[in-house]
Amino acid sequence: MTSEKYPAALWQNIPADIHRRLHHCLDQGETELSHGGDSNVFFRADDVAVPGQRLARLVDIFGKQQVPLTLAVVPAWLTETRWQRIIELCRRNHSLWCWIQHGWRHFNYETQGRKAEFGSSRSFSQKRKDVLTGFQRLNRLLGDSFTPAFTPPWNRCDSETLKALKELGYQALSRNLGAQPPASAALTEYPVNVDLHTRKERDGESGWQNFFKELRKGLGNGFCGIMIHHQLMNNAAFDFLELLLSELKRRNLPRLVHVDTLLREGYVVKS
Ligand SMILES: [Zn+2]
Repeated sequence: MTSEKYPAALWQNIPADIHRRLHHCLDQGETELSHGGDSNVFFRADDVAVPGQRLARLVDIFGKQQVPLTLAVVPAWLTETRWQRIIELCRRNHSLWCWIQHGWRHFNYETQGRKAEFGSSRSFSQKRKDVLTGFQRLNRLLGDSFTPAFTPPWNRCDSETLKALKELGYQALSRNLGAQPPASAALTEYPVNVDLHTRKERDGESGWQNFFKELRKGLGNGFCGIMIHHQLMNNAAFDFLELLLSELKRRNLPRLVHVDTLLREGYVVKS
């Protein structure tokens, strides 16, 4: 059974021993990481464009902790005024932020089955046009700050979309770990495997258990992508995010990084 109620069940009630559980999870992740292996964590915040209070609080936390953040922007929602306001919210800390492209207008075109903006219900040319229009808008508004990487809404897109991305010269793609269909080698994949705010468990404890399992696994594998939906966060979710960042930051491992750094290094996630 699933629930689409937000904030998700785990954020209704934070367990009293959350500190201990988080330490334990991070210790386990470090232990599972084979000796000498790299360890990278990246955070990806989706559905960015409106400079509201939650976005302000999100970038404030990342700025305070000095942790890099990849932000997936919905091009159709972004205006010059909004972008100027977002830059003000991000103030200094220019190197902390990496701006990538989300779906053109985050619309579900599928009449049945799983939601998708870039699924089989639309033609290749319609999808290509949306990707290109989004690219042009972000390029115009963001200039050099825009990193040519794409995150499809709901973490899914079809092979025609992948073909369009390749043709248009995108360099990276971020979907769920193991997402299909496979992308061509020209598109480096930086997958997410941890979901903080769109979890579907009905009871909070199952949500916490699954969250810690995902986090431990990602850390143990040496690459962990953590997905954020700031619009769905309550106070408890913000408090926990701050705790998570400070605990990760306090340890020598993992390295905290954003997609632009990974791309510049030519970093490839081992499968
Ligand atoms: Zn989204």
